Amino acid sequence: MTLPAAPDRLLKIIRCCCKQNCDSSRCTCTKYGLHCTPACGDCHGVSCSNRDELSEDALQE
Ligand SMILES: [Zn+2]
Ligand SMILES: [Zn+2]
Repeated sequence: MTLPAAPDRLLKIIRCCCKQNCDSSRCTCTKYGLHCTPACGDCHGVSCSNRDELSEDALQE
């Protein structure tokens, strides 16, 4: 069993409100090396380049 890179608590706290794409260190998610999530203010983890495409693939399998 592998532990996640960051605790769940941290993942729930870290979210961004980027008006632009999330590929720069101005994005809180990118800064912490995390993917954007639905909790993110503007991108909701779907409309940016920092979205978690891998986990979407995992859900389909
Ligand atoms: Zn962002
Ligand atoms: Zn984002």
